[in-house]
Amino acid sequence: MNKKPVILTAVVVLVSAAVLLALFIMQPKPSVTTVGGNIQAQHVRQNLGTDAQQLNECMRTCMQSGGKPPQCASQCGAQLTPKNTTQPPQGNTSLLQGNGTPSITNTSFEASEGPYYFIAIHNEPYHNDRDSDQKLAAAYSILSEMVEQADEYNIKLTLMLTAQWADYIISSPERTAEVRSWEANGHEISGHHHGVYHGSWDGYSGYPEAEALAIRQQKGKHESYIGTLSDYINELQQIDSNVNSGCMNDESDKTELPDEIIYDTCSGFANSGEPGTRAGDGDYVKGKNDFVLTAVYNGIKRHWLTHYAFYQDVEVAKTTFESMSSGVFGGVTHSVAGQDEALYDLMAFLHENDPTGEYSRTLSEVIEEHLLPEEQISEELISQKYTSGSSKPTASGSCGNGICDALEEAHSEICPYDCGS
Ligand SMILES: [Zn+2]
Repeated sequence: MNKKPVILTAVVVLVSAAVLLALFIMQPKPSVTTVGGNIQAQHVRQNLGTDAQQLNECMRTCMQSGGKPPQCASQCGAQLTPKNTTQPPQGNTSLLQGNGTPSITNTSFEASEGPYYFIAIHNEPYHNDRDSDQKLAAAYSILSEMVEQADEYNIKLTLMLTAQWADYIISSPERTAEVRSWEANGHEISGHHHGVYHGSWDGYSGYPEAEALAIRQQKGKHESYIGTLSDYINELQQIDSNVNSGCMNDESDKTELPDEIIYDTCSGFANSGEPGTRAGDGDYVKGKNDFVLTAVYNGIKRHWLTHYAFYQDVEVAKTTFESMSSGVFGGVTHSVAGQDEALYDLMAFLHENDPTGEYSRTLSEVIEEHLLPEEQISEELISQKYTSGSSKPTASGSCGNGICDALEEAHSEICPYDCGS
């Protein structure tokens, strides 16, 4: 028997074993970044010491004491895992991404499907209107009925008031008590402002009096000047001293955005698709919040959600809601006759989808419960003055971009423009 091949074989075996051992030692340890990408890695880093067992414990205790899954998740620093993982047509984000909380699975609580939703009611100023008192009274009674119906469904409304409404409410002890009861019941007191570029100015402005009046005159309007944005906020604070949200109609010019308003719905940009894309409230894409838009304006960080003017077509609002499997649907209407029916229609639909109102939120709640990831745009872009029509205001995947997307194709009524019918 020749010993050479035996020795050679032994050497080869030993060398191979050594190489394999070396490779095993040098093999990188599995890291969170390779499992779930950088976002998940950040989540884990930000939540060191909070493991799934502690989360489960916290969730169980919270829910045993009557808490609902979304509240408990928020309280425990957890994030609900949607059962339905289908992405909406425009969806590039989900509830699980980018908000600094870990996703947890295999827990004892029922996962959330979403989408969440918020509904804003704009309450108009009727400034320098001949019949302003009667119009305010009529609108107030419409708003009361809206809130009453919302209460039956356990839907929380975001009530956006102009300064004229604050005066009207505070001038009556009954109305003041009623509005406080709405607030105590979970509806949000929020602001609404018609600046100098709006069709009907409310008399307050971020511009000095002479400049504000000059802008109005250029538009052929001659309303009286009432005061600064600080004066406007002082009026609102009669109703709620902590008011910090609203629609300031700041789409075209952030000069009309008071420093106190940090949560707003009227950026003029869409909250889905490419961040920083303009879209109007008549575009269904404004109903879809896949993210919260943020930017620094006047040295203060602001958060914007968007809402679709669903009174224009409530069926489009429903279709948009149905197309979403995550995120936050936003809708807006006014406390005026002719726009209340659309609200009742939409609320009945939402009630069918969400019988206990579990997914209903106010504007501030959506932001403060971190239901959405944030997308920040530059101070330069947010501060840009914008005249609608100066360029085509479209969002990617929205109506008017010339692309017949899947949602538009499936529902030809949603955007006849893009689908050519
Ligand atoms: Zn308005």
